[in-house]
Formats: sequence, structure tokens, C-alpha cells
Amino acid sequence: MTDTTEADAANELMRLARQIAKHNRLYHAEDSPEISDAEYDALVRRNAELEAAYPHLIRPDSPSAQVGHEVAASPLRKVAHEVRMMSLDNAFTDDEVEEFVARVRRFLALPDDAEVVMTAEDKIDGLSCSLRYEHGKLVRAATRGDGQVGEDVTANVAYISDIPQELKGAGLFDIPAVFEIRGEVYMAKEDFLALNSRQAEAGDKIFANPRNAAAGSLRQKDASVTASRPLRFLAHGWGAASKVPAAAQYDMMRKIADWGVPVSPLLVRCSSAAEMVAHYRSIGAQRADLPYDIDGVVYKVDRLDWQDRLGFVAKAPRWGIAHKFPAERAETTLEAIDIQVGRTGKLTPVGRLKPVLVGGVTVTNVTLHNRDEIGRLGVRVGDRIVLQRAGDVIPQVVENLTRDEPREPYHFPDHCPECGSEAVAEEGEVDVRCTGGLICPAQRVERLKHFVSRAALDIEGLGEKTIVEFFQLGWLESPADIFRLRKRRSDIVGREGWKDKSVDNLLAAIEAKREPDAARLLFGLGIRHVGAVTARDLMKRFVTLPALREAAEQASSPARGGGPANAGGGDSQHETAAETDSPLHHPADGPPPRAGEELLSIDGVGPVVVEALGDFFHEPHNIAVWEDLLSEVSPPAYVVETKDSAVAGKTIVFTGKLETMSRDEAKAQAEALGARAAGSVSAKTGLVVAGPGAGSKLKQAAALGIDVIDEAAWAEIVRQAG
Ligand SMILES: [Zn+2]
Repeated sequence: MTDTTEADAANELMRLARQIAKHNRLYHAEDSPEISDAEYDALVRRNAELEAAYPHLIRPDSPSAQVGHEVAASPLRKVAHEVRMMSLDNAFTDDEVEEFVARVRRFLALPDDAEVVMTAEDKIDGLSCSLRYEHGKLVRAATRGDGQVGEDVTANVAYISDIPQELKGAGLFDIPAVFEIRGEVYMAKEDFLALNSRQAEAGDKIFANPRNAAAGSLRQKDASVTASRPLRFLAHGWGAASKVPAAAQYDMMRKIADWGVPVSPLLVRCSSAAEMVAHYRSIGAQRADLPYDIDGVVYKVDRLDWQDRLGFVAKAPRWGIAHKFPAERAETTLEAIDIQVGRTGKLTPVGRLKPVLVGGVTVTNVTLHNRDEIGRLGVRVGDRIVLQRAGDVIPQVVENLTRDEPREPYHFPDHCPECGSEAVAEEGEVDVRCTGGLICPAQRVERLKHFVSRAALDIEGLGEKTIVEFFQLGWLESPADIFRLRKRRSDIVGREGWKDKSVDNLLAAIEAKREPDAARLLFGLGIRHVGAVTARDLMKRFVTLPALREAAEQASSPARGGGPANAGGGDSQHETAAETDSPLHHPADGPPPRAGEELLSIDGVGPVVVEALGDFFHEPHNIAVWEDLLSEVSPPAYVVETKDSAVAGKTIVFTGKLETMSRDEAKAQAEALGARAAGSVSAKTGLVVAGPGAGSKLKQAAALGIDVIDEAAWAEIVRQAG
């Protein structure tokens, strides 16, 4: 410690606070740790050492002072499984399937020609879960965990409409007193892609595959996060049971379906290895078209008395096996590496490929994520690479076949390809960012696109193409310029592709947003870590934007802000600005700031958001953009309407096709009426609005006795409240 100067120590403490907060968030909130537990522990230990040596440098946001942050423990309660959750052995070839059937025959001492009936069903790629029903009522849901001890997700599965709170026919004689249904919680491919595009739009985490998305959505301490994610469930077996009211696997699964829990529609009985393999091929052929990801086919001995005799070896039953599909991989050539510059200045390398089919889909681009990933793969333009479609959806590079051939390594740009500014990665950060801030046209265009995007101001007719066109003409520099486009009406009309009518429509759409929703406006500014939900939470508390700004300015510590590194940085600079400030100003100068407390008291707002807000309002350029914008628009006070509405406080589910409005609009209407829009029907649903084509949700609503109305009746409720 003696060779560390005080300035170094303060700098390092600042970095550690930032890093530990980031890894806490990745681990707890996002289910995607980037470092090992041991590496995390080392950061915490180093922080404690420095604080012991320099007690006067302990930061107000010190990781050691974070009360109630159980960093190493899962946020969910642990529960022991009464009957262990098993995994299955794998088979990869047809021969191994035949050998499995032969093994079963030998174990049971059956003659070689004895028929052994097996069930066969698709193996869904999700998160295993056990649902304990007592007298037909769901009393507990738990994840697999290590098979013996899982995590309690009872509150979370309440939002999965495939999982009934009460089994159908409960109270009738054939539902056992105790019955644990086991299966997979999963996310359908389509829902996964939609979730990722919403996440991207809100600047939130992108999930690598549907399985990760399902796990991250289910394993949430705050079950309302689960509620906002479209999760499904498919049963494939059972655990503890006071009675098993069938003599065969297949019949038992049919019973579970009768009780109202979905089972695979592809579940069949086979009477020979040849039939099993034929079903495997048939499922394989349908794989790309199935609504969910699968990674193989599971076979189980049908007779339950035989299952009992066969029993278990180690962690797997002798009576079942998973016949895995080969990974969907393909070889191709990396023809170019393009660098895309995002809204926050992040440089993302994108590999351009010689088009190749992977699992039935033509792939021409693949993200190379960041500089480290390129280094890990050792890829250069011209290399032969192996692609894999992870979780069936997003292609990734898994291997470089020509990495050892002598050739110049790829040099990741140290300057932004769009503006020529230096591009750097801050210490502890993986991403390389353009430091050009607002002089970088790529960042400016991306910010404008974000400002008018659907989740932000949502200006109809002002699409990405138009933004780029007007930006290149110099008509759009910052968001406020959008509201001054009316002065350019004659210029626009003169341009190709524009007519009087289309220009009038565009200008009318812009004028319609003169009094925008304050939360959408705030989100549209693209402040780091302020997503759409956080923006709403902030506005609920502060009501007006000036009030929010005041709180944010007070929250910012005296050491930050106003430093030269901040100037001209734009929002891309915030998380780096503090690093270069003089560390000695902080925190020795005066008492630690307390003003962030009001922000921190808001549910869902943590130190990262507070710091990002503080930094934003200490950057003169941001303030200029903000004031310019507020001279053009006047967002009304943000009040969550709950008055005079027939649906205030209710949870509403929209299902089927809406004919006069989009689903997003309907949800916005519901929120404006003080109601909450949810994606799935559960006992907590207060009202279902169903259009043509509504399916399972409608049935569930009927089963739960929930009111169902049509779109016209909904429009009437909205009209009366307005
Ligand atoms: Zn740039």
C-alpha cells in the first residue's frame, strides 16, 4: 500500500465503486455475470483494503456501505426438492438409441423381441421448474437449481398463464393430494425477438438466446419484471406425488393436460427404436417452424411399473434418454468487418459474411460484439469461420479455422470511422467508444432516431430515412430542430419523394407532439441508464421536468461536473467523465452530498441512474439541448390519471387483433386510465379486451371468471373517461 499515493487511492476507489456496482447489477438484476465469483471477491477485498488505509477517502457510494446488499447470495429463497430433479443422459446417434432400448430390455430381462413402448417428445430449451400442487392448488414453484435445492419462484409463475393457480377439476377424485408437475419455463422465439427489440429500443440488456431470456425473466426478486415478460410453460413429467393416477407415462401426461397444464403436442408413443428415430427425424424437420427452441427429442419407457424397476443411476434415470440434435453450424468466409457507431458512441464490429445457410436460415451478418471478442477469436478479413445459431435465433462465431495462418491481425480502429475522433475504452470497460460526442454525426443521427422512436416521442412519418436525409441537409441538428421544420415546408416540398400532402401530414404529426408526455420526452433524450420505465418512475415522483432537473443537479457530487473532460461530451461521456476529474476534491471537500437521497428513494432508481442524471446536467451542451427543446415543447405536468375511470387500478390484458388501434396504443390508453396492461391472464387480471382471433387467453379468462369485453366496449370506456 505504501507505493500508492493518495490520489491513486482515490482514483482506484472511484473505479472500484463503479465496477462493483456494475457487477452487482449484472449478477442480480440481469442474470448475466461477466466475471467469476472469485474475481468479484477480489474487487471487494481490494476496496476494503484501500478504505482501511485511507478512511478519509471512503466514498458516499462506497460498495462496503451498501446496506442490505447480499452480494454473494441469490435474491430468491432456496427450497429443497422433495424428489430430486434429474437430468437425462444423452444420445447422439441412431445406434445409441437402439442401444438404449436394448439396455432397457436387458435390465428388465425381457426377450430380444419383446415390445418396449416408449414415449417420444420434443425437448424444449428452457428453464426446468417444479410446480407443487396440494389438493389441486399451486402452493409452490421452484427452479431446478442443483437438482436437490432450487429457488422459490412461486410469486413469479403467478404471471405465467400456462401455469394454472388451480388445476382443472380440482376437488374431483383423480387429483392427488400432493402432485408436483415438472416441465420447462420458456420464451417463444417470436416473443424473444420482440423482447430484445424492446430492450434495444429502451437501451436495456439484449439477451443472447430465448433460454437466457426466460431464466433472466423468471429469476427475479421483483415479480413485476416477470409479469412484463411473455413466459410459457410446458410439462414433461412429475416429481413428488401422493398418488400417480395412471399406469403409463403417456396416459399420465394426458391427465396433466386435462388438468389444464400444457404438454407437448408432439408427444407420441413408439413401439420400436425405428419408430423413435423416425419421430426424431420428423421433429427435426419441423424444428425451424416450431414456435419455441428445442435441442432434441426425449424418450421415456411408457410403463410406469417398468420405470420403477429401472430406477436411477447417478443423477439420471435408466428409463429415459435425450436424443440431441446436432448443433446448427456452418462454415463460411468473413468478407469484411464494418464498424457501426451507436447512439452512445459505442463502436460495434459487424462481420459481413459470404451468405451461408445455418439451420435453414441464410445468414449474411454476424455481430462480433467488441474488440475483446475479435481478439479472442483472432479473426481477420478473409478468415474461414464456423458459425452457430445459438438458441436457434442469433448467429455467432464459434471458431476461426484459419487463425494460425500468417496474416496481419485485424486492427480495431482507434478513431471513430464516422467523425475521426479518438475512440477509446475506459479502464474496466469492454466497449470502445467514440469520444466525439455531439460532433460525431453517427451519434447525433442515432440520438435523433432514438428521440422520435416509438417508445419516445413517436412522431408518425418521421422515420429513420427521413431523419438521415434532413440531418445531411443540415436541417436537423438537435431534437428542437424537429419542431422548427415547419419553417422549411417549401424546401421539403421541393424534394424528391415529398408532396404537399405528405409534408402536411408530417408537420401535423410533429405539431401534435408540442405537448408531449414528459416521461417519453425524458426517455427520448437518451440519458444513459434512463430507460422508458425509469423515465416514468422519475416523472411520477417529480411531475415536471424542471423539478427533476433540480433534483439531478443537487444529486451530483461537488467533484463531478464542470470538469474540462465533460465539455462537449454529450451523454456518451458521462460514465467516463468522472474518471479524469481531480480525485482529491472528493470526498474530502465538505460533507458528502445528500441530495441524491430523494432520487434514490424511488423504486428502481439506483446510484448508477443518479450519477448519470447528475452528469447529464453538468454538461453545458446537454443543458443547451435541453433548454432549446423546452423552448419548443411544453410537456404537461406528469400526472398518472386514476380518476373517473372504470378501470383504474385494474390489470388489463389485450388479446387477439385490435382493429382500430395498435396494441401499444391500447396499452397506453390503459395506463392513462390508471390501469396496468399485462401480457398474460392470471388470477390478478381484472379485465380482458379481446379482438378477433383471441385464443388461449380468452379461454383462461373464461376459466377464471374474468370479464371479457370487445374493442368497441373498450373504446367506449376510454371515451367516457376522456
Ligand atoms: Zn464519432
